Amino acid sequence: MTVTAVVDLLPRLRRITLTAEEFRAFVRAGADECFGLLVPADGRPHLRWYTVREHRPGLAEIDVDVVLHDHGGPAVRWALAARPGTRIDFRRSGASYAPPPDCGTQLLLADETALPALAAIVESLPPGTAGVRAVVELPNTSWTYDVGGDVEIEWRPRDGTAPGTRLLEAVVEPGRVGYAWVCGEAAGVKAVRRDLIRGWGLDRRRITFSGYWRVGREDGYDQG
Ligand SMILES: Cc1cc2nc3c(=O)[nH]c(=O)nc-3n(C[C@H](O)[C@H](O)[C@H](O)COP(=O)(O)OP(=O)(O)OC[C@H]3O[C@@H](n4cnc5c(N)ncnc54)[C@H](O)[C@@H]3O)c2cc1C
Repeated sequence: MTVTAVVDLLPRLRRITLTAEEFRAFVRAGADECFGLLVPADGRPHLRWYTVREHRPGLAEIDVDVVLHDHGGPAVRWALAARPGTRIDFRRSGASYAPPPDCGTQLLLADETALPALAAIVESLPPGTAGVRAVVELPNTSWTYDVGGDVEIEWRPRDGTAPGTRLLEAVVEPGRVGYAWVCGEAAGVKAVRRDLIRGWGLDRRRITFSGYWRVGREDGYDQG
């Protein structure tokens, strides 16, 4: 892929547009499709997963929204240095959002790294879709993000609490939730999944979950 544009949506969120001939015929497997960036560092490629935020087949382009966290890492270093003309290899992957046809109410929970995926899911829903509750935990109140579609999103600032805390708090009386999609920091996602199953009796087969990143032992998590 070759970078064609770099735009800072927020001080800590960078949209990178990439082009490759393969994107002309590319058909997404699902709304939250991710792909592997083979990031060069220390003389070898490091695989890091990112979400296809937008796909424009006519231009053979995709957009990726990269959280610029401050704990180092090959992907963030690459994103900070990316300029039009920068080249990088990629690996195709797949999608995981898969509500059963009869699921009724859906609960979508994401942190800032899973926000591009949640946004793509919400925008893929037919107009007027009812029964979808979407909650996003963001580092603080200064984060804003455009999401199209008909679903109202609950924004919950983390404000220094451990990642996933606000998502867990949002799981109160999920009631008749028939499907949950939960993505974000690994420990937080695990806690939410446990609560949905043990606390609220949701069938584990009706939960799609993925730890998108993991707090390191010595890491803080303030991404203000
Ligand atoms: C399916 C999938 C889709 C994803 N989509 C996106 C996406 O669209 N946009 C996006 O920004 N991320 C996305 N991620 C998360 C991203 O892959 C991770 O954040 C990744 O670890 C970043 O790699 P790195 O090389 O910067 O850091 P790493 O080398 O993996 O880690 C270095 C250090 O940074 C810390 N760290 C890593 N990520 C974060 C973070 N977000 N906040 C705070 N500390 C962190 C780690 O704990 C570690 O200490 C996705 C992950 C998955 C599995």
